[in-house]
Amino acid sequence: MKVNEIFYSIQGEGLQVGLPTVFLRLFACDLRCSWCDTMYAVEGRGFKDLEEKEVLDEIYKYNCKRLCITGGEPLLQANEVEKLSKKLSQDGFFIVLETSGHKKPPDIFGESNFLISMDCKCPSSGMEKRMNFDLFKQLDEKDQLKFVIADKNDYEYAKKVLKEYCVKAAVIFQPVYGETFQWLAELVLKDNLTHLRIIPQVHKVIWGEKRGV
Ligand code: SF4
Repeated sequence: MKVNEIFYSIQGEGLQVGLPTVFLRLFACDLRCSWCDTMYAVEGRGFKDLEEKEVLDEIYKYNCKRLCITGGEPLLQANEVEKLSKKLSQDGFFIVLETSGHKKPPDIFGESNFLISMDCKCPSSGMEKRMNFDLFKQLDEKDQLKFVIADKNDYEYAKKVLKEYCVKAAVIFQPVYGETFQWLAELVLKDNLTHLRIIPQVHKVIWGEKRGV
């Protein structure tokens, strides 16, 4: 398994925000978002090729049964992710899978102790044409669909996607880190979008833009 880093931190995004969590960051991604904050896990040689047992040993070290599998794009290693997740799930782990909206997650992620956190890439990312909108419809109530919002164009785009596709999952608007987002809150209230949450990246509020947190 190509692993960029394994670390213990506070979940900074989405419905699980604030909870202590072990993070497994897998290496490589087939997208290139303009505002990507983990390029060290996208290209270059920033990975170790680890056996499953080595990954499990490192995860167990933290004594926390909450895991977030992130990247990069974890589903470039879908078989390994599925196998590892099955083992940890049988041992009582709750697992969040962070993935972009262009690859179908393995079926096991439909089970109740898994949460799929899927991104819909908006125009500011430059990757919006790579999205598979059918995947958004397949998300469950327990899952979340996250829009990273950089500007008003992204906001209007997200609104259009939500109008067009029937999304059962929780919807998160996540402002790009470092930008003000009072305007976003005011627009959400003005448009009365009562079904969604605005959640900034809390780990960056705590530690700033650092690796391994
Ligand atoms: S999908 Fe994620 S890891 Fe890949 S380029 Fe975009 S932000 Fe970076």
